[in-house]
Amino acid sequence: MAIEQTFIIIKPEAVQRGLVGTVLTRFENRGLAIKRLEVRQIGRDLARVHYAHLRGKPFFEGVLDSITAGPVVLGVLEGENAIELVRQLLGATDPMKAAPGTIRGDYGTVLPYNVVHASDSPESAAREIGLFFPEG
Ligand code: ADP
Repeated sequence: MAIEQTFIIIKPEAVQRGLVGTVLTRFENRGLAIKRLEVRQIGRDLARVHYAHLRGKPFFEGVLDSITAGPVVLGVLEGENAIELVRQLLGATDPMKAAPGTIRGDYGTVLPYNVVHASDSPESAAREIGLFFPEG
């Protein structure tokens, strides 16, 4: 185990539903430190790069619509084993399959609305932190 940094996006529907504090509390409760935090609107071009691995999927444009639909809260969390830990706290991608007790299992509705994005590997964490915070 090692101290890691991971990248999160509290998605537009969750910001609109007033879930920012709830979601951040889940992370803080597990000892994760908030290293960066920012309210931003993600443009479609940036969304297309961020979700490049989904290009060609039938739901790709819908994912772009949902992540650009309003302000998001994005940030960097730090802690022991943070990348894997945060993914575990999120639960499965599909809120219908996410276990109760996980963030997506407790607050998600129906795809693509699953409350939070988090990096799924050290490589994507480094890539996403660089993409959204290019100034370093
Ligand atoms: P994760 O967000 O768990 O890393 P993916 O990278 O596979 O999952 O997908 C990115 C996002 O695309 C998901 O969080 C969700 O919002 C959306 N998505 C994934 N699969 C579907 C699907 N089958 N239908 C609609 N939206 C989806």
